[in-house]
Amino acid sequence: MEKNIGYLPGDGIGPEVAAEAKKALEAVAEKFGHKFNFTEALVGAVAIDETGDPYPAETHKVCQESDAILFGAIGHPKYDNDPSAAVRPEEGLLRMRKSLGLFCNIRPVKAYSVLEDFSPLKKERISGADLVVFRELTSGLYFGSPRGRTEDGKAAFETCNYTAEEITRIAKMAFEAARNRRNKVTLVDKANVLVTSRLWREVVTKLHADEYSDVELDYLFVDNAAMQMILNPKQFDVILTENLFGDIISDESSVIAGSLGLLPSASVGSSVGLYEPIHGSAPDIAGQNLANPSAAILSAAMLLESSFGLVEEAKAIISAVDEALNTGFVTKDINKESTVGTKEFGDRIVELIKK
Ligand code: NAD
Repeated sequence: MEKNIGYLPGDGIGPEVAAEAKKALEAVAEKFGHKFNFTEALVGAVAIDETGDPYPAETHKVCQESDAILFGAIGHPKYDNDPSAAVRPEEGLLRMRKSLGLFCNIRPVKAYSVLEDFSPLKKERISGADLVVFRELTSGLYFGSPRGRTEDGKAAFETCNYTAEEITRIAKMAFEAARNRRNKVTLVDKANVLVTSRLWREVVTKLHADEYSDVELDYLFVDNAAMQMILNPKQFDVILTENLFGDIISDESSVIAGSLGLLPSASVGSSVGLYEPIHGSAPDIAGQNLANPSAAILSAAMLLESSFGLVEEAKAIISAVDEALNTGFVTKDINKESTVGTKEFGDRIVELIKK
């Protein structure tokens, strides 16, 4: 199979972890006889520095012409520490998601048995946890208008918008995914307070009754869900939620795995799929060969399966990561005593894929 992959490494540790994911894809191509053509493009702070735009037209063209996109991370302290900056790296990511129609963000989370001792949560709470968050990505508070500041600058506001259509299309994906897992969907909302959440409940409940009554559906308010995620994460199979709640809940769920550096994600929708680790550009460890590339490498596995239908190839990557982690070959974020760096971890994955 020959496929074109848009390669957008971004900022901070983005290029470091994306390089290891690319190495894993190249190893898979070699082992299974495929050809992956990578086209690199600018995104984030590095794109602002070079072109003035965090998501330049040239990058959009590369994305549109690709069969899938491998993304690192974006963000730079010079923008984080300057609330008045006219252009921000995150705008590039938001614009990319919106313009490519990537309305569904999928984040699987599982507890690795050998890493349970390193988790900040008690082993008996997280052991066996295996869930996936379906987060709506192109609407809600992050995109709604009007938004802005009042003329005197003393007040600010955003708008949360959702349509029944936006809710239905992601809810369908969540129900379908549940059928291939443990058959349960939990809708996380704030329907006791927010009118948009009440629309989510109404639409999801009707869809469930009409088309997915074989799947178990339950509901949790987001404040309770945040608590349950730590108290009893094993109760969750598929979590379905809107943009802002999904952002928070999925980061919270990362403590189950032991590190942000372990969690991959896929953003899919109406066109090309985008695959990226859930973490940011981690400026505190950038350029030091300290970043855990597992999340980026596992995102490459999601790319193979979701965009190219290459299930065996995806498994080869997942098994390699499992084996490395299960044999204690881990980066410093997981075990402070470890001397394994980003590159060494990536090299080990390549070895294991080729084995
Ligand atoms: P972050 O995810 O970059 O880092 C949070 C903490 O986790 C840091 O201590 C970091 O060192 C650690 N960490 C993250 N990934 C790791 C990895 N692979 N291996 C080891 N440790 C890892 O979040 P932040 O510090 O809140 O944000 C930093 C920048 O990233 C900001 O500019 C933010 O806007 C941006 N950001 C981008 C994305 C994205 O590109 N999708 C997501 C979140 C944050």
